[in-house]
Amino acid sequence: MDYQAVLHQIADDVAPLVGRGTPAAYIPALADVDPSRFGMAVADLDGKVYGVGDWQRPFSAQSITKVFTLALALARGGDSLWEHVGREPSGNPFNSLVQLEYENGIPRNPFINAGALVVTDRLQTLTGDASSELLEFLREETGNPELAFDAVVAESESAHGDRNAALAHFMASYGNIANDVPTLLDHYFWQCAIEMSCADLALAARFLARHGLRADGTRLLTRSEAKQINAVMLTCGTYDAAGDFAYRVGLPGKSGVGGGIVAVVPGRCTLCVWSPGLDARGNSVAGVAALDRFTTLTGLSVF
Ligand code: GLU
Repeated sequence: MDYQAVLHQIADDVAPLVGRGTPAAYIPALADVDPSRFGMAVADLDGKVYGVGDWQRPFSAQSITKVFTLALALARGGDSLWEHVGREPSGNPFNSLVQLEYENGIPRNPFINAGALVVTDRLQTLTGDASSELLEFLREETGNPELAFDAVVAESESAHGDRNAALAHFMASYGNIANDVPTLLDHYFWQCAIEMSCADLALAARFLARHGLRADGTRLLTRSEAKQINAVMLTCGTYDAAGDFAYRVGLPGKSGVGGGIVAVVPGRCTLCVWSPGLDARGNSVAGVAALDRFTTLTGLSVF
């Protein structure tokens, strides 16, 4: 497969969509990003990376990091995680509170904010320092020791984090948060504020295409756990548009409000696309279109 030629074709095809949509503004530090950016990278199973456009420019990974935290929590703590968080699509916005009361403080899935807070809480209990654990893992998988949290974004999230604080306190009232809520929120905001490029994210997600094997060949997840995470990405990874994403793209994916989307072709490659303009559901307009073109041009989807 000539990934480089495919990426150039995609960049041409989606150019009219770049700049459409609106960068996330509810975190003020994210609103300043240039909406005309577009980058895309593919990493093959051996870690060779192909890219186009702004594929090496770091951006705010945001909710894409929820995939990595989930993988680490499962790897360190095993299946008991699923007593604390479900794995059904929510059909509600990513920061919604409504289902929590009906479901006794158990969030629908690990990729909505409530679910990610629970997963980060579990990782914090298991490791004592969830965000450092995550950062260390990402540096190792990417081979990029420069990866870091953006303190301005983390502080901006914290200053405007009333809803995440409400989610965490509400779940704590059901006994579904073990750590002190302000500490948990700090780890969650740092996690979201990691700056990574498309190349970094495609490399970091490779264990999902390699059926659980890390970059150094050691095993992070069982083959079955890697399948489970890919399945939850397919059904829950792109906010309340996961059905439409599966229909258009046909790959496990996880988006973030920074405008990035990671996608996985199990057994073949990983992809990351970035363009900051978001649609009404919070997914990158040009990013979804680019992944749609990728599976159409290559025939590589899980279906
Ligand atoms: N830090 C963001 C929040 O908690 C993440 C949202 C996202 O990317 O979906 O609201």
